[in-house]
Amino acid sequence: MGIIRKTKSVVTLLNEFNNSSSAISVITLIERLRSEFNKTTIYRVLEKLEEDGLLHSFLGKNGLKWYAKCNDCSANKHSDVHPHFQCSDCGKVDCLETFNVAIPIIPNRKIEVSQLLIQGKCEECFV
Ligand SMILES: [Zn+2]
Ligand SMILES: [Zn+2]
Ligand SMILES: [Zn+2]
Repeated sequence: MGIIRKTKSVVTLLNEFNNSSSAISVITLIERLRSEFNKTTIYRVLEKLEEDGLLHSFLGKNGLKWYAKCNDCSANKHSDVHPHFQCSDCGKVDCLETFNVAIPIIPNRKIEVSQLLIQGKCEECFV
């Protein structure tokens, strides 16, 4: 850390993630923080936090963008290549950090992003 300026919007957004172990969708963040910051600010801060290796983003169901906290990532290098699990009942999304995804090496292709979204029922809905 250190590069990022701890403005009010940065601190508020980081707090949202520190208070929850699950991922949060951009739409939810905007709804929660709408009274304090405008959409553009939220998008900009999220992008910045991702660049700085504090958050990572991925696409969930219906192409919605989600963000979650990073572990051991740094600016320019995200080391969290893991699948995400989305509950098809309650919509909750978790990082499956203990599972490594082997990214295939494809001749004549340079892989930049690889995403795996697993869908099913979470522990609360699977009863
Ligand atoms: Zn990361
Ligand atoms: Zn669920
Ligand atoms: Zn994740």
